[in-house]
Amino acid sequence: MEIQNKKITRAKVQLQNEKPFFAYLIMNMTFIEKEDIETIGVDALGNCYYSPKFIEEISENELKGVLAHEVLHLVLEHLSRSKDLQHLLYNVASDLCVNDMLLENGFDLYSKGLLPRYHEYTFQNSDGEDFTISDINKKTANQVYEELLKALKDDEKAQDGEDAKRTDKHIESKDDGKPLTPAETRSKRKMEKGNKRSVHLCEG
Ligand SMILES: [Zn+2]
Repeated sequence: MEIQNKKITRAKVQLQNEKPFFAYLIMNMTFIEKEDIETIGVDALGNCYYSPKFIEEISENELKGVLAHEVLHLVLEHLSRSKDLQHLLYNVASDLCVNDMLLENGFDLYSKGLLPRYHEYTFQNSDGEDFTISDINKKTANQVYEELLKALKDDEKAQDGEDAKRTDKHIESKDDGKPLTPAETRSKRKMEKGNKRSVHLCEG
């Protein structure tokens, strides 16, 4: 869709004046329209896949933040650092780190993204209890990931008895169509419950 491509080009031009460092990095990404994803994502080669509908819906300022978000995943090598880790949980951890940096740099971010405040973000476990990731600015995505993993494991331990009795275990599907493992399903459900919105997933 021509219009969305123009919107991306316009955002890149504006960034050259406003945030030249980010603009320089973004200029080296290849933008590819993809109808079957909901938002936007990046792969390790610097290909940025976007849903035309998503680009249409967000404001120009949000788009600038979104482009900077994608390029930071590349700069921070999140794609290679997430190997062998739980995909969804690492997406959450890396998005928190990226968004924290971008807020610090004065970007407007996608309003439905995971947005830390004062370098903190609070999730809710299955009992409705809060657990907070703090000092995000001082942590790598892998450190945030370990904290999230620990919090979820503690929560699962507490829930083990209850889970064993349940007969309606349902497996939700990932974007790539593969079923989630029970642990991933629980993580996803908890994240959605805590935040009442879907988690931004970067492809690749
Ligand atoms: Zn992301």
